[in-house]
Amino acid sequence: MHWADAFLEGVDGDQVISTGISPSGPIHVGNMREILTGDIIYRASSLKKLKARFIYLCDDIDPLRKVYPFLDPGYSEHVGKPLYKIPSPDGNGTYADHYLSPFLGSLEKLHINVEVIRSSDLYATGKLYKTIKNVIEEREKIAKILEEVSGRSVGRDWYPYNPLCRKCGRINQASVVSFEDPYVHYECKCGHSGKSDIRKDQGKMPWRVEWPAKWHVLGVSIEPMGKDHGAAGGAYESGKRIVEEILGTSAPRILIYERIMLKGKGAMHSSSGIVVEAGEALKFMPEEAMRFFIVKNNPAKHLDFDPALGILYLIDDYEKYFNAYFGKDRVTDDDMQAVVKYSSLDSPVGPVDPSFRHLVTVVQIYSDETRLLRALKSSGSMIDSIDDNLRSRISKVRYWLSKYAPESVKFSILPSGTVVELSDNEIRILRRFLETSEDLDWEPQTIHDSIYSLSAQTGVDASDVFRTFYRVLIGKDRGPRLGFFLSGMDRKWALERLRECTQAARP
Ligand SMILES: [Zn+2]
Repeated sequence: MHWADAFLEGVDGDQVISTGISPSGPIHVGNMREILTGDIIYRASSLKKLKARFIYLCDDIDPLRKVYPFLDPGYSEHVGKPLYKIPSPDGNGTYADHYLSPFLGSLEKLHINVEVIRSSDLYATGKLYKTIKNVIEEREKIAKILEEVSGRSVGRDWYPYNPLCRKCGRINQASVVSFEDPYVHYECKCGHSGKSDIRKDQGKMPWRVEWPAKWHVLGVSIEPMGKDHGAAGGAYESGKRIVEEILGTSAPRILIYERIMLKGKGAMHSSSGIVVEAGEALKFMPEEAMRFFIVKNNPAKHLDFDPALGILYLIDDYEKYFNAYFGKDRVTDDDMQAVVKYSSLDSPVGPVDPSFRHLVTVVQIYSDETRLLRALKSSGSMIDSIDDNLRSRISKVRYWLSKYAPESVKFSILPSGTVVELSDNEIRILRRFLETSEDLDWEPQTIHDSIYSLSAQTGVDASDVFRTFYRVLIGKDRGPRLGFFLSGMDRKWALERLRECTQAARP
């Protein structure tokens, strides 16, 4: 059973599935695990005929915590101010929107239909008012819960409310001195004293109280979360007690997921700059492959994201599942049907043709569409034209080749006339191939098979046979799968090139 279906076993009634990502920096592939896990559960709920609502809470009222490495040093004057009140790094609009907008664009591409709720709006519209009043009145009990769970002392004068200082604009510097519903009176470290109206966005609850307050107000019943929040002593443990003991509602059912690491660099965090932004990844990954990455793997498994060679294997795997769904390939996974359904943008549309890997080869041989199409058709693809969908995949392949592909998969065809020094054995191989090539079907599998029989006939190791072809065609010892590679090339040109090399090599 797929993990999302297993998670929903025994769940019934209306559901509110909640996710949250802070727009404090670039929203990256690591964050996709949060939103996609929510989306997959949401889809699984719909298939189970549960009435569900799927929300994404954008924590845009959170303060800027520090000047992150990707920010101009001038941002030091904004540290402590809410993200939706800070100017954008590009000068247009707000800081929060600057990071939120491209993320929303990625959600659209991935067909994630989520209701976006900004925390600042929850405060500004008074939706949190009664709950804020409640937690302020019960502050001593909440302080005790936080101390018991986290083991840290909270202090006698603590209020579960951080006022926004009207003078310095910071939301993490003022302390509450008293509460007279609906106002809190505060004193700020900047010297200003004033009052905040808790019915408006004039302050916020601290994270550990705000989270359960949102569960309560929005009726959240399911929430995926990173393991840091779910750990013993973490925010979920205190939140669960606050929502149950103080606010009188239940805590959501949780699904804890592991982190996504950027291969060779560590966990992805926007604060450290170790990230591939979600929008950037979609410039080279098919959307379904991004979904597949999260859908296929159990949330408890940590994942490595490798935009170089690893992505090619990930895409191979995704294509294999999709082709298996349509009976064109084989996978042994029992959950294959569910994986394909949840990875599809809408419903599964068909096998993948041509494969990403084949496109990687062919686009390096041909730049114009007509020859590209001819090469694809002659190498076994069933397409009749290059439509927008294929064009988009081709542009992803080209982008990947220009920015992330390792040298080992990149090549360029040597122009006619380039002399390559060949050994007697190599010349023998090529001549033998040319002799038999007259009757050869110019197709990947036949070419591949003919290379092996060439090896058997000449007694030359197959790897040396392959190397000979690569040396002559691209000047390297290794290259793309030879059957696909040759079949993607113009037959006449390729044979002429081989012949020329066998002649040039001998005086
Ligand atoms: Zn102040």
